[in-house]
Amino acid sequence: MKTKVNKLKKYFNKMFVGLALLSLVIALIYQQDVQKKDVLGVIQTGEPSAVRFEALEGNYPSYKLWDVAGNSLGYGVMADASGYGGKLNVIVIVEDSGLIKSVILVDNHETPLYLKKVVDSGFLNAFYDHPVEDNTTGVDTVSGATVTSKGILTAVQKGIVQIGNNELGLHISTGSSIIYDWKDLTVVGLILLAIISAACNLRKLRPWVLVLSVLIIGFLTNASLTLGNFSGLISGNFPIMVERPVWYILVPGLLIITIVWGRNIYCSWLCPFGAVQEGVFYSLNLINFSPSANVRSRVAQARWLMLWLAVMLALVFNNSGIASYEPFAVFFDGRGNTAQWVMTIIVVLFSIAQLRFWCQGFCPVGLILNFTARLKRKVKILMKQKRQDNSEPTQCTQCSNTKCAQKDDLLSSHDKILIGITVLVNALILMVLIQNIIQV
Ligand code: SF4
Repeated sequence: MKTKVNKLKKYFNKMFVGLALLSLVIALIYQQDVQKKDVLGVIQTGEPSAVRFEALEGNYPSYKLWDVAGNSLGYGVMADASGYGGKLNVIVIVEDSGLIKSVILVDNHETPLYLKKVVDSGFLNAFYDHPVEDNTTGVDTVSGATVTSKGILTAVQKGIVQIGNNELGLHISTGSSIIYDWKDLTVVGLILLAIISAACNLRKLRPWVLVLSVLIIGFLTNASLTLGNFSGLISGNFPIMVERPVWYILVPGLLIITIVWGRNIYCSWLCPFGAVQEGVFYSLNLINFSPSANVRSRVAQARWLMLWLAVMLALVFNNSGIASYEPFAVFFDGRGNTAQWVMTIIVVLFSIAQLRFWCQGFCPVGLILNFTARLKRKVKILMKQKRQDNSEPTQCTQCSNTKCAQKDDLLSSHDKILIGITVLVNALILMVLIQNIIQV
């Protein structure tokens, strides 16, 4: 009987995984379709009076515009550049006189809160009436959202240089579009240090590397890996390589290292929030909190559901930034929505009682990296099993006839506390996702 129930469970598990993957594929197809925008519709977001347009030559899609009476409205150009979460696209409307009339953000994959900061600062309006021949001189990036605002600035520069030089007979020089600076180089240096230390098994260096990661990846650059990064990767929203090379080292680079090495080096050597949780636990742990391994592993299963939901929402709303529900930005940059603040406080407080509380029960990034690290081992095991024509059962069967099964029913008070906190944090994650969608 027990074996039948187990078989049924396995069957349903496989079915749920299959359905989850299928729904993600459908959402991805839908997102690619949403990205194909109607040209006139996009132009009208920048110049509502435009009813007729004619395509012009150039690297970026650009158009001559007319109103209903046939009067010229100038030019519209759509250009893109790299933001924090991937490419962002703008449409710039330039009058025949060479003044910028409007800059509208058409698409982006930025963390909603950072984008809100840029928009609320009036950054997009700063281009109004700016002569294209001055390029973007005098328009400054927004502090605290530098990468996002620099991305918008770069996209505007690309657009107006094309219109100025090709249509208005000007000679505007292109500025540098490379966004990395010395801070990015410190991140690259730290990644190299961690790889070398891990490869040479220099465990004594680990605490120092983690302290550096808190300072550099945490507070200095706030460049922790997030689910938003992976969501961007899935949907193909990569930043332009020459503009944000550090993104390629951090996101696909670390992922490839994890797959090839079969080891999640980011979580053990580089993650600043993992380091903070360890620091909190080892320096403040005064409580003997010991929920059973069984309950811990069961409540952690909810991570898959949250991961799936966040990626689905990011695809459906065409913005990978929506998927970033982690507490990293709140902790290292003091930025987050209300639910994120409450969640971060709970997580940090509970890290006193349980080592790496967020990592073990909620973190989608750790889940992805651990899964990828295990892939290599799984492939190896599968190949070995094939060779041996293994007919032995690989699953633990003790649950069918031993105390193991009984343990499911006996919840200690610590188990109940853990279940309660897990439900609360997951409810807060849902609220974070909802607030992210509202802020887009
Ligand atoms: S599980 Fe998440 S928070 Fe923990 S170390 Fe890994 S990435 Fe960092």
